[in-house]
Amino acid sequence: MRLDLEQRLREAAPTFLDANKDVPFFERGFEIGDGWFDLLLSALQRIEQLVTVGNLPVRVSQIKTKFDELRFYAKPNYVEPPPGHAEIFDIIRETERRALHTCRDCGVEKARSHNCSRLSNA
Ligand SMILES: [Zn+2]
Repeated sequence: MRLDLEQRLREAAPTFLDANKDVPFFERGFEIGDGWFDLLLSALQRIEQLVTVGNLPVRVSQIKTKFDELRFYAKPNYVEPPPGHAEIFDIIRETERRALHTCRDCGVEKARSHNCSRLSNA
């Protein structure tokens, strides 16, 4: 992901993205294409709101691409899920689902014939 886009995502969710040193996100950051920027920005803004309002100890763990799909992991640091927990993980699952239909490179909704991923990887 382009550094300026990554920077904007980090600014949208400084608390949630303040990863522990032991998780992949700490070293690797956003391991995704630019096409998912809008999806991630919207998700991170909503998650940051829930995390800061509820003072929830849940932080990013990893955001990557696997088999052309978004894999978005967060790590809760509590035993009993507090209010806001379910919403955060609903947002994450929803974002992964929407990424299935969004080109990771250009961000358009994928039609059957869409093949810009294949072209850009060639
Ligand atoms: Zn595309």
